[in-house]
Amino acid sequence: MQSHVNDKYDLVVCGGGTAGCAAGYIAAKKGLKTLIIEKNIHLGGTITSALVMPAMKSNTNDINCEFLTDFINELKCYGGQITYEDGNTGWFNPELTKIALDSMMKKVGCNILYDTEIQSGITDKNHVKAICVSSKMLSLYIESSYFVDATGDANFSAILKNKILENNLSRQPMTLRFHISNINLEKFSNWLLDFDKDRNVTTSCKIDGEIHLSTACTWDKDKNWALWPIFEKGIKNGDITEEDASYFQIFTIPGMSGTISLNCPRILIGEDIDPLNPYDMSNALIKAREQIWRIYSFLRKYFPGFEEAYISNIADMVGIRESRRVQGQKIYTKNDILSGTSIKNPVLHADYPIDIHSYKKDSSTLQHSSVDYELPIECLMSSDYDNLFIAGRNVSADFSAQAALRIQTSCFSMGEAVAKYTSEIMEGQFK
Ligand SMILES: Cc1cc2nc3c(=O)[nH]c(=O)nc-3n(C[C@H](O)[C@H](O)[C@H](O)COP(=O)(O)OP(=O)(O)OC[C@H]3O[C@@H](n4cnc5c(N)ncnc54)[C@H](O)[C@@H]3O)c2cc1C
Repeated sequence: MQSHVNDKYDLVVCGGGTAGCAAGYIAAKKGLKTLIIEKNIHLGGTITSALVMPAMKSNTNDINCEFLTDFINELKCYGGQITYEDGNTGWFNPELTKIALDSMMKKVGCNILYDTEIQSGITDKNHVKAICVSSKMLSLYIESSYFVDATGDANFSAILKNKILENNLSRQPMTLRFHISNINLEKFSNWLLDFDKDRNVTTSCKIDGEIHLSTACTWDKDKNWALWPIFEKGIKNGDITEEDASYFQIFTIPGMSGTISLNCPRILIGEDIDPLNPYDMSNALIKAREQIWRIYSFLRKYFPGFEEAYISNIADMVGIRESRRVQGQKIYTKNDILSGTSIKNPVLHADYPIDIHSYKKDSSTLQHSSVDYELPIECLMSSDYDNLFIAGRNVSADFSAQAALRIQTSCFSMGEAVAKYTSEIMEGQFK
C-alpha cells in the first residue's frame, strides 16, 4: 500500500452517520478544520443507509439542536422533510438527506473522505496522534488534535483498544428495513381507517396535499392490534411465518409519493447473534431478504392498495440497535434515566423512554420515566485517551440507558455537544 501524509486537522470525525454529521457540521461551522471519514459514499449512516425514520421527538429543552434546525431547513429546500400533526419534525426522506447533508457540509467547509475505512490509530501513551485510513488500496495518515468515534459500532475505539463495556444482558434484535412503492395510498388509507376503528396505532392525514399515514402490528399483546387477524390468517395460510409477524410498522415518506418505509423484518435468528461477527451478519442478511420477499408478497395479497406495488429499496446497512459501547469518563445508567438528575451544561435534556426490543414474544418493553433526564459530557469522553470523544449509539452507557439514548435526535445532540466542547477547548488553547 502507498502511504500519503495529509494535513493536520483540528477534529477528525470517524463515521459520517447520525452523530458524526452533527459533530462535523457544527465543528466546521465553529471554524475548526474538520474532516469526516465515512466508509460509505454518502453521509447519514442509519438514516440513509439503514432507511431509519422518523427521528423521535425527545430533546424537550432544545439543547444542542442547532444541527437539527439547520438540517430540517436544508432538507425542506429539497422537499425532503415534513412535520406531522403531533409536531414531530423528524420525517426525513433518506435519499434527499444525502443531498442535503453534502450541501450543508459544503456551506460550512467540512471536509469529507468518502469510501474510506479506518485502519489503525497512532497513539502516544493516552493521546491519539493520528489515524490511518485506507481507500482502494491507498493508505492515508491523518493527524488531528481531537477525534470523535461516531462509527455506531465504536470501531475506532476498538482499534485503539479503549475499554469497551461488557454486555451481560441479552441483545436487541436487528432489522433490515425496506421500501415498497406504487401503492394506491388513497385506497389503502380509506381501507385502513375503516378497518382500524380504534386507531390506537393508525394515523392518516394529508400534508401539502399528500397522504401521510402510519400503522403497526406486533406479536406482543400490549395493544389491541387491529391488523393482527390478517397477520394470523397469513401465518395460517403459510404466506408468512410467525417471526415475520413479530414486528410490522409502516410509514409514508416525504417526497416519495405512493411509497412506504417498513420498519421490519426483525431478524430473530437467535439471541446469541452477534452484530460484530461477519458470519452471523451475512447469515442474517440472507434470512432478512427472504423475509422481505414474504412480507411484500403477503401485503400484495391481503392489503387493498398494494396490488401493483413493488419493492423499490432494501437498506444497504442492517439496522443495529446496539453493539459496542465505549467506556467513557462516566457510564450513564438506567438509574440516571429514571432519576432525571439535573446537571450543569447537559449534552441533552430528553424524555425518550427505555425502549428495549426483545427476541421473545410479549417481552419488548418501553419504560417511561416520570422525569426528563440529562446526559453529561463525561459520557462522551473516552476513559483511556485525553483527545478522543464518543458520539452516537456507542455512547458510554449501560444496556438500558443506551436503549433510551440511541434515538436520532439524541445522537445529533451528542455530536453537536462534542463539536462545541472541542471548539471551546481549542479557543482556550489559542488565546
Ligand atoms: C431498526 C431501527 C429502528 C430505529 N428506529 C428509530 C426511530 O424510529 N427513531 C429514532 O430516532 N431512532 C431510531 N433508531 C435509532 C437510531 O436511528 C440510531 O441509533 C442512530 O441513527 C445511530 O446513530 P449513530 O451516529 O450512532 O450511527 P450511524 O448513524 O449508523 O453512523 C455510523 C457511521 O459510521 C460509519 N462507519 C462505521 N464504521 C466505519 C469505519 N470503520 N470507517 C468509516 N466509517 C465507518 C457508518 O458507515 C455510518 O455512516 C432505530 C434504530 C434501528 C436499528
